[in-house]
Amino acid sequence: MTQTIGLIGGMSWESSAHYYRIINQAMRERLGGVHSARSLMFSVDFGEIERLQHDGDWEGLTARMIDAAQRLERGGADFFLICTNTMHRMAGEVAASVSIPLLHIADPTAAAVAAAGYGRVGLLGTAFTMEQAFYTGRLRDAFGLDVLVPEAADRAVVHDIIYRELVVGDVRATSRAAYAEIIARLVARGAEAIILGCTEIMLLVQPADSAVPLFDTTTLHALAAVERAVAGQG
Ligand code: GLU
Repeated sequence: MTQTIGLIGGMSWESSAHYYRIINQAMRERLGGVHSARSLMFSVDFGEIERLQHDGDWEGLTARMIDAAQRLERGGADFFLICTNTMHRMAGEVAASVSIPLLHIADPTAAAVAAAGYGRVGLLGTAFTMEQAFYTGRLRDAFGLDVLVPEAADRAVVHDIIYRELVVGDVRATSRAAYAEIIARLVARGAEAIILGCTEIMLLVQPADSAVPLFDTTTLHALAAVERAVAGQG
């Protein structure tokens, strides 16, 4: 029996729906027939999360993530994922609050970038992810990646499109064009690949929007969960 994957979702549910689909499709491909993944998702109210983020109440957010992780542990998850890059800001505290392991979103992402032979990557994500050390630091320190983030004005555009459009499933051609321009500026500064470091960006940006390869955290994180669930089966 494969391990049970725990998912803290709802941040936003637009991307959590993709996690659920990718995980189940990959498990079916892995095991054949009509197999699917054993999983549990605790899905939060993103309205509350978004307000606390923009109020800077990271203590309140940490308490909510710990509560979610403990619910997954009580429900029988063997390991768990936080289905958003931003909410890995408190990954250490959340992982320490339960006895089941956390599969950190940056790890399969950075491993894929490094395995493909790229050393200098551009990072797109929320302002929290692009500007605070919790994410870029892990990419640099644990995986030796040289991380470039957009300039301030471009970071604001990337952030606003995530929170105003993508988290409510609003996908616009004008926003895709804006992201393509921002990616081009990162490539001009030397980015050899781009990390889609927000789980909704895959709704908007496609390989055709970039001159260099894209590494989508949603897909890489979900696939890593399947591999782990299969590897750990009893
Ligand atoms: N899903 C996004 C991320 O990967 C942003 C939403 C959130 O703040 O959790 O960072």
